[in-house]
Amino acid sequence: MGWAPATSTNYSVRLPDDAAPAYCAITSSGVDKGTIEVTHILAIDQHGRPIDADGLKPSAETPLHLLLYRTMGAGAVLHTHSLPAALLSQLARDEGQVRLAGWELLKGLSGIDTHEAEISLPVFPNSQDMHALSARVEQFLSTERACYGFLLAGHGLYVWGKDLPEAKRHLEVLEYLLQCQREVTRHGCSANTR
Ligand SMILES: [Zn+2]
Repeated sequence: MGWAPATSTNYSVRLPDDAAPAYCAITSSGVDKGTIEVTHILAIDQHGRPIDADGLKPSAETPLHLLLYRTMGAGAVLHTHSLPAALLSQLARDEGQVRLAGWELLKGLSGIDTHEAEISLPVFPNSQDMHALSARVEQFLSTERACYGFLLAGHGLYVWGKDLPEAKRHLEVLEYLLQCQREVTRHGCSANTR
């Protein structure tokens, strides 16, 4: 789908409680996701430390995954680098959000049953300091529970769900809606024009 160019993006799922101290399974750093195999996925504990990882390093963005399990009760976290996500988040950096409203596919998000709905994806400034960035995102999400995903400016989209199928559905919905919004923007409207 063009959502994971080069070795970008990362994906994880929460492991059952009886797998402790293994907490989640996450993709290894620096792997081309177009050719990824099961040997490129490792288990980490609640602090992001690898468990029996055979030299694999967890994704650099692991703190963002862990905060979504902690704060949002996620069962899976998916992070993409699509063109619409990178472009719109860069355009909306100062506004701090991308609003998506009036689209039929909003109904693909859990809890929404009409196109007459509006959601907001918060946009955070990008950073290479993952601990500072995850603290900032966690602070925001602790007061904004009704949130389906967030954007990092000029970078990409984070989406989660109660399990992997829901996270995948939410990802496909949000990527599609960002593409719609990008086309609207291309025709001379702002990132937040309906
Ligand atoms: Zn990324």
